[in-house]
Amino acid sequence: MGLKLFNTLSRSVQDFTPLDPAGKKAGMYCCGPTVYDFAHIGNWRTFVFGDLVRRYLEFKDFQVTHVMNITDVEDKIIRRVRETKTSLREFTGKYEAAFFEDLKALNCLSPHQTPRATEHIPDIIALIEKLVARGMAYQNIDAVDCSVYFSIDKYRGCGCKYGQLLKLDLAKLRPNERVLTDEIELDKDYVADFALWKARVPDDGDVFWPSPFGEGRPGWHIECSAMSMKALGETFDLHLGGEDLKFPHHEDEIAQSEGATGQPFVKYWLHGAHLLVEGKKMSKSLGNFFTLRDLLAKGFTGREIRYLLLTAHYRETFNFTIEGLQGARTALARIDECVGKLREFGAPVSDPARSEVSKHAGAETGAPVLQEFSAAMDDDLNISAAWAVVFDWVRDMNRRLAENSLFAADAATALTGWEKIDSVLGIGAKSGTEVPAEILALAEARTAAKQAKDFKRADAIRGELKAKGWVVEDTPKGPKLKKI
Ligand code: AMP
Ligand code: ZN
Repeated sequence: MGLKLFNTLSRSVQDFTPLDPAGKKAGMYCCGPTVYDFAHIGNWRTFVFGDLVRRYLEFKDFQVTHVMNITDVEDKIIRRVRETKTSLREFTGKYEAAFFEDLKALNCLSPHQTPRATEHIPDIIALIEKLVARGMAYQNIDAVDCSVYFSIDKYRGCGCKYGQLLKLDLAKLRPNERVLTDEIELDKDYVADFALWKARVPDDGDVFWPSPFGEGRPGWHIECSAMSMKALGETFDLHLGGEDLKFPHHEDEIAQSEGATGQPFVKYWLHGAHLLVEGKKMSKSLGNFFTLRDLLAKGFTGREIRYLLLTAHYRETFNFTIEGLQGARTALARIDECVGKLREFGAPVSDPARSEVSKHAGAETGAPVLQEFSAAMDDDLNISAAWAVVFDWVRDMNRRLAENSLFAADAATALTGWEKIDSVLGIGAKSGTEVPAEILALAEARTAAKQAKDFKRADAIRGELKAKGWVVEDTPKGPKLKKI
């Protein structure tokens, strides 16, 4: 079965077919952090969702180019730079470094490219110039505010559609009504021309760049259009973000990009639902505002937090609770215990008869769990169904281990299957004691000596193993290695 994803653009679940004619490469852009503070657990839900999409595409053998921008210049940042009396780079550098540390703590794969807005000012200016040349952007030179705005009216006049992601009431659009701010929070339906280039004002301090439109800085929306198209081309496969970004951020990205190129901008738009904490919107005054660091300081691990963030379907609002984190610990312990036992059990077996049986049984333990996992994930990343597959597998493995009906090769096949599944989930499993290759080789040699009835040599190898700190036990399931 092929991968299906809910595309906000078509408001339906669609087959995922990349633009690459060979069907192999997939370009994916995730709106990244605004580095004015530590990212909170809600932000992390969205970033971990991006990581899941990338990992699952790779599981399906797509060659993914994953791009995540760093928004290092916008209104909130400038305000904080002013308040803290620091330089822009000094201020954003601290939160950017924290972001990458947190990304690692949650075992998210590093995006292939993480462009900073401040390092793409020439690309941004070139894109605005294109829009000016096509008559879709304007500047009121004689006005007090000399910012450059995107004209929704002109864009629509060229046959383009504004409001592709959300159904907007365009009757509310009044010509020449403009907003300088990047975020429309109060009235989601409020449509107005938005700033592409914000003219320098005294409050901006040192944060400005020269441009053909005068000194100033880019608007937030144009940053993402310029950086995504530079990295992935005028049309690319996937664009992700939290649901709050649909409007105006993503709607405006589409308008700017399609207005400038005349090409479709993105094939699949994916939006993750928000996270609530203890049933409420996070806020500092409610005391339910957690950064990742707050939770690590409470003694939870990045692995437990990642697990919890991955338990709910990405399109469902998720209620994050401390109790849930405790539950995550228990669930992970079940996986760890099972995987630990399988690892211990997967020690070398050189009995040809047992290997024969194992080959057959192995086919039952490795492949089906992978197929079931993949069928669940293909269905618009149905992670709850995927976890159900994992825990059914854990139960089944535990039962078979207890009944002695599992062969060592089955355990090895099962582990290979688990590792492939975990390449998507990224929760790992604490490894038991790893057996060094040299010790494994000695154990194999001892089994071979026993089969050849060379008991003297078998005993000598046992002594050698002991000297190296390992004891070998013969069990009905085959030899087992233990560290002394
Ligand atoms: P920001 O750093 O504010 O630009 O946000 C980074 C990402 O976090 C964006 O994709 C937002 O949509 C997302 N986001 C913000 N708040 C939440 C939340 N409570 N739950 C899930 N995602 C969120
Ligand atoms: Zn963006």
